[in-house]
Order: sequence, then structure tokens, then C-alpha cells
Amino acid sequence: STTPYVLNFGAGPAKIPTSVLERAQSEMLNYDNSGMSVMELSHRSKTFGKILDGTKSKLKSLMDIPDNYEILFMQGGATTQFAAVFYNLVAAKQAKEGNEQEVIVDYVVSGAWSNKAAQEAERLAANERSTIKVNRVTDSKKVYGKYGSLAPEDSWQLSDPKKTAYVYYCDNETVHGVEFQQIPKVDPGVPLVADVSSNFLSRPLDVRKFGVIYGGAQKNLGPAGVSIVIIRKDLLADLNIGPVRPLMLDFKTMADNDSMYNTPPTFSIYMVGLVLEWLEDQGGLASMEKRNMAKAKKLYDVIDQSALYRSPVDVNCRSRMNVVFRLSSEALEAEFLAGVAELNMVQLKGHRSVGGIRASIYNSMPEQDVDQLIAYMNTFEKAHTS
Ligand code: PLP
Repeated sequence: STTPYVLNFGAGPAKIPTSVLERAQSEMLNYDNSGMSVMELSHRSKTFGKILDGTKSKLKSLMDIPDNYEILFMQGGATTQFAAVFYNLVAAKQAKEGNEQEVIVDYVVSGAWSNKAAQEAERLAANERSTIKVNRVTDSKKVYGKYGSLAPEDSWQLSDPKKTAYVYYCDNETVHGVEFQQIPKVDPGVPLVADVSSNFLSRPLDVRKFGVIYGGAQKNLGPAGVSIVIIRKDLLADLNIGPVRPLMLDFKTMADNDSMYNTPPTFSIYMVGLVLEWLEDQGGLASMEKRNMAKAKKLYDVIDQSALYRSPVDVNCRSRMNVVFRLSSEALEAEFLAGVAELNMVQLKGHRSVGGIRASIYNSMPEQDVDQLIAYMNTFEKAHTS
């Protein structure tokens, strides 16, 4: 039987380039003449060691990661990093300033995911007997009554840099379709932390501006199961300093053991390596950025020129990865979604918390698939306007 051609607009787990899946299939039963699948290799074997090192060095060169940064492969999804970032960077600050000093952690809240990260920090800080404060620098919901707008940076209430362990933001809000168009400016002494789960490697990013960059793999990088953490080495605090934290969340333990303190998610790391190789073949991040901009622009142009579709996101913060839009009623949205399904376009339904339509158009989404969606949008509009 032949595989049906499906246009996968899913937000994550998301489409993986077909050539990558074919490559994985071709070596599924016999990796590098080992007579075994990657899944069956010992993580301590030389063969897997090469996979891990290769994946790291490809990421390093694609993102131009300097030598004073460590690359970690961790588990528990991006959500686990909400806690890991809090524990480890508070520890790094306390290593510098002393355990008794008051520490503040700053959160830029621009959508569902940064809100969840801030909530996790608030929960954990409450447990640290008040020496740690969480400050919402800005919160779009408070300022505008909704997500989809971003308060100008000069209105943010950043904390005293001397007391601030980090400033946290989510570079691309997957649910609300909000993406930062530039890196926020913070005091050079304060580490900037970015959740890039849904726009990882979609464009060049100046790693030197960050203390920590992290993301789950299952959108732009491969299958679920591995999260990548890029951390400046001076922020790796000793385990006995700062908040008590589970070993598996400790960045220094991970770094000291080359991400193999325990069994790492070997197959997911291998798949990420293949996706990185594909990215190199595509011309790297500058060329991805061009393509991603072109795909997103096409969609936003249709939305903006239409009387039927409407973007709930301000022009200055629209995501190139998750294009969200609304129709005039939920009934019409349901009809729209029923129509796309017939054309094998899947996973276009907006996140359950917001409704509407969401077209996720990550690196692996070919421009032709976006064109097909646009053709359908135009046809649907014609049929529904007189
Ligand atoms: N951060 C962002 C921006 C996301 O889009 C997601 C998931 O969609 C998460 C965090 C949570 O990721 P995970 O499900 O891997 O915990």
C-alpha cells in the first residue's frame, strides 16, 4: 500500500522531513553495520558515543555556539526545564552572592508557555521560604487583557540587576502565535533565558546574548523525548549550593557526565542528529530563516487581505512558526476545519485553550504545502462571501 500524502500542520509533535525518516528507516535494523538498531545500542558504546558527539558538534556549528557554552541533552520535555532553570540559575546567583541574599527571578509573560514557566517559578519560590521572589516584568494579559500583544520593552519592570538571577522569556509562544522579533535587552550582568521550543533553529540566533537557551525537540528538531539545553559554563553551580534539587534536574551533574549521568534518550538524540544534518543540507539557519519568512508572509498576507479571516496577533509580534487566525464564528471555523480534513491537511485546529485555527509551519513544512492551504483558504472565502 502507498502512504497517503498528508499535509501536517501540527504544533508538536510535528512533521519531520521525509528524507530524514527514510534515512532512519534505511538504518533502522542495522546501524553502522552493528547488526542492531540505534535503540538497542548501549549508551556507553563507541557507536553511540559517536552519535552523541556528532549531534553536539552539528548543533555547535549550525548555531555558532561558542566554547564557553555547554550543550546538554535532558528528558522530561520543555516543561521540566521550567523547574530546572529556576533551581540552577538561582543556585548560580547564590554561588556568586551567598546563600542568604535575596534573589529575584524576572519573567516576561507573553503567552501560555511563559505564563506556565512563571507559575512554576512562583510555586517553587514559595517553597524556598521567601528568599526568592518572582517578578512578572510584564504580562500581556494584565496589560492588554489578552495575549497577542507585547508591551514595549521600555515599559517592562525589570528588577535590580544586582539581585536578579535571570530574565526569562519565551521566544515563540506556540499557543498564541506570538514571536519576539528581536532579542530583549537586559543588563549584561543578568543571564537571559529563552524557551525556544517552537522556533529552535528556525533562524540564526546570537547565542552569546544568552545565559540559557533551551527547547524540546518535538517541533523543529525531531521526536519527543529529548530537550536541548545550551548553557554558559559559568552558570553551572555546584550541587551543594542553592536550592535542593533533584539530581536529574541539575545542569552541572548533566554537564560533568556529558548528558550520560543515566541512560539518555538515545533514539531521540540520534534523530535530532539526522535533522541537523538535513538542516546543513538545506543551507543552514540563514537559509531556513528566508524560507520561513516567505512561508509566513504568504499566510499573513492572505489573512490581512481577507474579509473572512482575522489575525488576533499584533503585526509586531507575529510568529513565523505558528500562524493563528480566526473566522467570524466557531461554526464557520468548524466548517473550515472539516473542509481541510478532506484534503488531507491535518492538525490545523487551534490549541484547545484558545480555539480558532493554527497553522504550524516549522522548518520541515514545504512551501507547496503552505500554498495548498492558501488555495483552500481562498476557495473557502469565495464560497462564503457574496
Ligand atoms: N514551551 C513551548 C514554547 C512549547 O510550545 C511547549 C509545548 O508545546 C512547551 C514549552 C512544553 O513542552 P513539553 O510538552 O515538551 O513539556
